[in-house]
Amino acid sequence: MENCVIIGSGPAGYTAAIYAARADIKPVLFTGNIPGGQLTTTTNVDNYPGFPEGISGNKLVNRIKKQAIRFNTKIIDKTITEVRLSNQRGGIHRIIVDKKNIIESKGVIIATGSSPKFLGIDGENKLIGLGISFCATCDGFFHKGKDVAIVGGGDTALEEASFLSKICRKVYLVIRKKSFKASKILQNRILKKKNIIIFFCSQITKIIGNNFLEGIQILQNKTNKIFSISGLFIAIGHNPNTELFKNQLKLDEKGYILVKNGSTATNKPGVFSAGDVQDSVYRQAITSAGTGCMAAIDLEKYLFFLS
Ligand SMILES: Cc1cc2nc3c(=O)[nH]c(=O)nc-3n(C[C@H](O)[C@H](O)[C@H](O)COP(=O)(O)OP(=O)(O)OC[C@H]3O[C@@H](n4cnc5c(N)ncnc54)[C@H](O)[C@@H]3O)c2cc1C
Repeated sequence: MENCVIIGSGPAGYTAAIYAARADIKPVLFTGNIPGGQLTTTTNVDNYPGFPEGISGNKLVNRIKKQAIRFNTKIIDKTITEVRLSNQRGGIHRIIVDKKNIIESKGVIIATGSSPKFLGIDGENKLIGLGISFCATCDGFFHKGKDVAIVGGGDTALEEASFLSKICRKVYLVIRKKSFKASKILQNRILKKKNIIIFFCSQITKIIGNNFLEGIQILQNKTNKIFSISGLFIAIGHNPNTELFKNQLKLDEKGYILVKNGSTATNKPGVFSAGDVQDSVYRQAITSAGTGCMAAIDLEKYLFFLS
């Protein structure tokens, strides 16, 4: 019988492990098929506190992992394929590993993260972190004074366009539909910005650049045009990794795990959630680490009051 099973090995999962291990609740962490999580898909992380020169995404998450190992976290390189979560306070949760082994635990921390949606264009994958980004807050600064593009017409895309317009020279906003999906207030703000050039009914048909992004081709009204840009921000949404929990936990309309206000508690006793899987708003390494810490403290308190 375990006290604390952590599902996920991004900043949320490993930070939860550091806190749980130091509270002596002996966490067992399952890495899943992306050991280290989303940060392993990027080059430089410049906004994580404590690294004044920046740090590579891989190095950062490996350092958090090392810290979790230092306090004796048991790390298992396997994927969870099913969960049977108890409704009872003090109940036993069953976690199925690789479709065969069942682990029983009094507590579970879910930190399975989310996956950004891709455009599906040639060259996109290879230039992630080399000009292509899913996060203006993370990478906008690298393009200070330069021209960039952003794809998407929802709230996130418009918020990111607004942010980029303050630091970049020109921001091309590429929207597939003939209107915005975002709230009216954001639309009004964007329409007032002189350096945001909007392309409705448009799509990106080509990514230009071999070792780093150099430009894009935009198709509008059957005409292709090429634009030189240093950054392309893809803001067409994220998929939270919650397939496993669909019939087990309360999710919001976008599929993110619902947590109780000001805590990481889900609707099942002893089950807590941290990081991007429960956060459709901030989606940062630091906020994931923060909620990972919260989840471990919440679980430790839950176990204390059971005993
Ligand atoms: C290209 C890119 C660049 C970014 N740059 C920055 C940046 O500069 N600064 C910043 O703050 N943020 C950045 N982010 C965002 C940041 O990476 C995320 O906010 C953060 O990684 C979320 O952490 P997490 O622990 O919640 O989940 P994730 O990092 O998404 O990790 C999820 C983990 O869950 C595991 N998992 C999933 N399903 C299962 C399962 N069934 N069983 C077991 N394990 C499972 C996966 O294997 C993975 O290890 C970037 C994101 C991307 C994609």
